[in-house]
Amino acid sequence: MTNIAERLQKIKSELPETVTLIAVSKTKPAEQIMEAYNAGQRDFGENKVQEMVSKYEQLPKDIRWHQIGHLQTNKVKYIAPFVHLIHSVDSLKLLKEINKRALQNNRSISVLLQIHIAREDSKFGLSFEQARELLNSDAVKQLSNIKIAGLMGMATHTADTTVIEQEFARLHRFFIELQQQYQRFEILSMGMSGDYPLALKNGSNMIRVGSAIFGERNYTQ
Ligand SMILES: *Cc1c(COP(=O)(O)O)cnc(C)c1O
Repeated sequence: MTNIAERLQKIKSELPETVTLIAVSKTKPAEQIMEAYNAGQRDFGENKVQEMVSKYEQLPKDIRWHQIGHLQTNKVKYIAPFVHLIHSVDSLKLLKEINKRALQNNRSISVLLQIHIAREDSKFGLSFEQARELLNSDAVKQLSNIKIAGLMGMATHTADTTVIEQEFARLHRFFIELQQQYQRFEILSMGMSGDYPLALKNGSNMIRVGSAIFGERNYTQ
């Protein structure tokens, strides 16, 4: 077995069945994705549109592609024909564009609202209040070809596990609150290589793991 297959299987063996593992393959070549694929992995995460499109074209068509990075409105059209889930939606403008492109492709596209929970202000995402407003707006209710399926968040990059846990727990409480109003809310995407055990402890059911599977990336995204 390759290192990638071994690492993948170790992580999977520790996950409850209800948790989906996204293998974050950004910057990694198609051959390495195939190693994970041959070990049974089907969900992969990318953060650059061009890179996802090029990998989609080269790789098996039963891969479920997850857009996890910030998405510019003018690039939605390139991934709309095939993307499985967009984790990083944080504006009405983007929701409208995804809906429009989904319609053109005669499909429905599932999305998550990205919520800002970290202390750093460099990260994208909505506040709880902005997310509530968006979900209750008439404009969003009219979008027939998107499904808002849950929330995504990233914790502060810190060694202080108390801070990370508090942030995940806060997002989980908000998720539960929304779930009571919107039956279609089912996905809480939180946890990366460095913090996914804390995310799982705090209610995550989808983790996005890159370096713990594929090794360190040569440059940070
Ligand atoms: C890169 C990235 C990940 C994976 O990060 P690792 O630390 O390599 O596991 C997860 N989520 C998002 C949004 C990312 O950009």
